[in-house]
Amino acid sequence: MAGNWKMFKTIAETTQFIVDFLPLVAGVTHADIVIAPPFTAVADAARKTAGSSVAVAAQDLHWEKQGAFTGEVSAAMLAEAGARYVIIGHSERRHIFGETDDQVFQKTRAALGAGLTPIVCVGELLAEREAGATNQVLARQFGGSVGGLTLQEFTAIIIAYEPVWAIGTGKVATPEIAAEAHRFIRSEASAKFGKDTANALRILYGGSVKPDNVRGLMAQPEIDGTLVGGASLDAKSFAAIVNF
Ligand code: PEP
Repeated sequence: MAGNWKMFKTIAETTQFIVDFLPLVAGVTHADIVIAPPFTAVADAARKTAGSSVAVAAQDLHWEKQGAFTGEVSAAMLAEAGARYVIIGHSERRHIFGETDDQVFQKTRAALGAGLTPIVCVGELLAEREAGATNQVLARQFGGSVGGLTLQEFTAIIIAYEPVWAIGTGKVATPEIAAEAHRFIRSEASAKFGKDTANALRILYGGSVKPDNVRGLMAQPEIDGTLVGGASLDAKSFAAIVNF
């Protein structure tokens, strides 16, 4: 169960969240819990969650190890700061910052090279769904973003299905719609990496997940977890999602 904080929370606000959140999820063993604060709070969040059931993710990274890339952060820098996961190819990166499937692929390999677990996001726009092109888009993003990984690399990633029309809009996909997309992604994984690998792949659903809709989503066997934006900013709300 992962929370993507986007560009919200200072270090002080992150600290307060952790103080409030840790007691609410103490002893949780049914799920891995991840929070993804902004870069500036990653190191502090990692220190303050050390030894707890909560791990820290970054929200992006650059694929090169170092270089003249003003404003960018490498996988090794994130790992050193204490991140264990990194979100890659979020729709806001793809659509606001023009990130391509190939960049997502390179970032995923860089993250794996530094021992981070990538959470690779895919998902269709509303117009693509309405045009009946959802599977085509998912196949293209899957192929371009993770299809070129080795089998060993692929076994170490998590995929998040995030239909763009459901992100930050309050329009959650029905559990059936989400499960159908997850099934399709798993079938792509099976075709490329084999049935066992596909069955073991964790696919998270993201898009307006809230405490009152998480149970229905998690009741779908195809849905292995959730990637939560807005509702992960409040400790009680995210704890309610984790403890669905
Ligand atoms: C997200 O940012 O990945 C997300 C799913 O946002 P929200 O839960 O706010 O729709």
